[in-house]
Amino acid sequence: MHRFFVSADILIGSEVPLADETYHHLAVVLRLAVGDDILLLDGNGSVCHCRIADLQKRGGRAKVLQRWQETDTAFPIHLLQALPKGDKMDLILQKGTELGIRQFSPLFCQRSVPKKAVERSEQRCRRWQRIVSEAARQSRRPLLPRVDAPRELTKVLADCDEELRLMLWEEGSRLLHTALPDVAPASLALLVGPEGGFNREEARQAMESGFQPVSLGPRILRSETAGFAVTAILQHRYGDLGSAGS
Ligand code: SAM
Repeated sequence: MHRFFVSADILIGSEVPLADETYHHLAVVLRLAVGDDILLLDGNGSVCHCRIADLQKRGGRAKVLQRWQETDTAFPIHLLQALPKGDKMDLILQKGTELGIRQFSPLFCQRSVPKKAVERSEQRCRRWQRIVSEAARQSRRPLLPRVDAPRELTKVLADCDEELRLMLWEEGSRLLHTALPDVAPASLALLVGPEGGFNREEARQAMESGFQPVSLGPRILRSETAGFAVTAILQHRYGDLGSAGS
């Protein structure tokens, strides 16, 4: 059954209006019709099994048949990602959502994409939100991951309160597995550097904020590869990626 994320406030009644992108996707792209069943989710775990009751030229409505709460079985990871060049952040948002990331915090670092190139443009934030929403829909996640606006590394570090904080640092000597406890931590923050790597001062600030520098071994991975690889390892070890929890 096709599923769509809609805003929470329209999901409360016995009928749901179908408009904008949701209407376009189901009526125009998927050519669904009156009588077809769909799932509508609010992105916070509420799920409604609905039946399309009416479709007009620009909108329609669906009747709610059943509603329930779903939890996200993915291990909650907060990815602190130094902004990569080009549109690689789109790829990180898409694959990170599929792999179960709970929150994305894009970062400015000394060697990341400069701040002026990525001013908080509403358009970019809307695009990023669309990428995450489409990836969550496609991968059947009940929750929509949060995407923060890009901020300086120091500001993001100051707000971190996760139980376990890991910084991927190719100059670190401690191997990842030695920093992973047997029992899953309540929450985890994963800090990944830019194409040019962290500078010494950034590494010091991160360690001062409780981040443990860990190495992934002898090969130097691209920023996006490093984040995906560790997320998959963590989801397998503590989450639902082909492990006991899934
Ligand atoms: N210093 C790297 C170089 O010599 O090319 C540049 C940084 S690397 C391309 C991008 C980021 O991925 C790093 O900042 C780090 O966070 C992570 N990373 C890549 N390979 C890693 C490894 N073997 N161990 C730990 N982190 C790694």
